[in-house]
Amino acid sequence: MQSPRIDTEIMVKGWVRTKRGNKNIAFIALNDGSTINNIQIVADLSLFDEALLKDITTGACIAVKGTLVKSQGQGQNVEVVASSIELYGKSDAETFPLQKKGHSMEFLREIAYLRPRTNTFGAVLRMRHALAYAIHKYFNDKGFFYLHTPIITGSDAEGAGEMFHVTTFNLSNVPMDKSGAPDFSQDFFGKPTNLTVSGQMEGELGALALGDIYTFGPTFRAENSNTPRHLAEFWMIEPEMAFYDLSDNMDLAEDFIKYLIRYALENCMDDLEFLNNMIDKGLLDRLRFVVDNEFVRTTYTDAIKILVESGKKWEYPIGWGRDLQAEHERYLVEEHFRKPVILVDYPKEIKAFYMKLNDDGKTVRAMDVLFPGIGEIIGGSQREENYEKLLARIRELKLSENDYWWYLETRKFGTAPHSGFGLGFERLLLFMTGMSNIRDVIPFPRTPKNAEF
Ligand code: ATP
Ligand code: MN
Repeated sequence: MQSPRIDTEIMVKGWVRTKRGNKNIAFIALNDGSTINNIQIVADLSLFDEALLKDITTGACIAVKGTLVKSQGQGQNVEVVASSIELYGKSDAETFPLQKKGHSMEFLREIAYLRPRTNTFGAVLRMRHALAYAIHKYFNDKGFFYLHTPIITGSDAEGAGEMFHVTTFNLSNVPMDKSGAPDFSQDFFGKPTNLTVSGQMEGELGALALGDIYTFGPTFRAENSNTPRHLAEFWMIEPEMAFYDLSDNMDLAEDFIKYLIRYALENCMDDLEFLNNMIDKGLLDRLRFVVDNEFVRTTYTDAIKILVESGKKWEYPIGWGRDLQAEHERYLVEEHFRKPVILVDYPKEIKAFYMKLNDDGKTVRAMDVLFPGIGEIIGGSQREENYEKLLARIRELKLSENDYWWYLETRKFGTAPHSGFGLGFERLLLFMTGMSNIRDVIPFPRTPKNAEF
C-alpha cells in the first residue's frame, strides 16, 4: 500500500494505545490493526474540548482528521497533527481489561474477545493471515487444486482421533433400536455421522482424478489431551499427489515449509521482529536456520537406536515398536541432530492401515517431520495403492470393510502410486511466531472444557 504524502490532509481511525503529554499538548498512540506500528497523533489542547480529551483513554476508538507531518520527536518518522477528533467509542479506564502491559497469556485467553487488540495477538493474527495466503499461493503456483473435502463425514476416516458426533436427535429422548442402541436410521443422515478428523481419504480420490490437490480446512479431534500442542478444532493442510513416492513426498514437505518461512521473512518482518524481541529471542535465528539447512532424513529404527543409546531417563519408555512421544521427538531434533528431522519407515502396528507396506513386511512408508520446540509438525505417507494388500490390512485390523467400500474401489479402477501428508496449521504457527501454547495462535481456541466466545 502506498503511504499518503507529507503535508497532506488525512483521516485515521483506530484504537488508542496510550495517551501522554503536558499542559499544552497531547500525544496519542493510535493503532488500526493493519500493522504493529502505531501512528502518533499530536493534539494541541487549546483546539479541543477538555471533556473530549478526557475520554480519549487507552482502548477508546477515535477518528482523527489532520495533517501528516514529519515527526519532531523520536521513535517515528511521521505523525498526524490533529485538526478534529471524533470519539466513536469510549473505554472506561477503571474497567478496561487491557490497561497494563505484560498480562499473562492465561489471562488473555479469558478475554479472547479483546486480545486481538494487543500487540502480540495482532502480530500473531496478521501472520496467520499471511501464511494462509502463502499456502494457497504455493500450491496454486505449483499447479495443485484446492479440494474442499466434507466437514461432516459418515466414516471414522482413518481412526486418526476421537470424533465429535453430529446428530439432530433430541439427546434427552434418543430413539432406540431393538438392541437398545441409538437408531441412527431415524437421524438426519440416516446413519451415524461425525466431524472430520482428516480430509485425506477424500483427498486421495481427488489426487486420483486431478493429479495434485490440497485441502486446507477445519479439523476436529475430541482427544482429551490437554497439551500445549493439541486443539479440539484446528486447521490442517493436506496435499495429496498422484505419482509421488515417499521421497517425492519428503521433498515437497521440506520445500513447502521452507517456502512458508521465507514468505514470512520477506513479508512479515515488522511482526516477526516484535515477536523476536518480546516473545522469543531465538525466533528469527531459528527461522533462518531452518531455511538454510537440509532436514535430516532417517529411519524410525535408527531413531530408536539413538534414543535407547542416549541413556536418558524417559517419562515414556522407548523401544522398537513403541510410538515416539514429544520428549523423544524433541530429543532427536533439539539435542541429537539439532536440525529438523524426517523419520520414515515406522512399524505398521503404530501407523494407519492405508500406509504402503515395505518389502520387509514389518514397516510402512510413513514419514513424520519433527521440529524444534514442537515435535511432530507433519505426518504423512505413501499410500497403499494395491487393492489386495489394502483389503488384507483392513481385515487384519478388523476394520469395517463396509465403511471403506468407496476408498477400496479407487484401488480397483485405475489405481496409481500416490502420497500425501498433513500439516497442522497451528503447529506451524507455533514455530513461526515463537508462541509456546497452541491456544495462542488461533483466535478462539477449542480445548477440553473450553468453548467460550
Ligand atoms: P500427535 O501425535 O501430535 O497427536 P497425530 O499423529 O495425531 O499427532 P496426524 O493424525 O498425523 O497427527 O495429523 C497430522 C498433523 O496434524 C500433525 O502432524 C499435527 O501437525 C496436526 N495435529 C494433529 N492433531 C492435532 C491437534 N489435536 N491439534 C492441532 N494440530 C494437530
Ligand atoms: Mn494425535
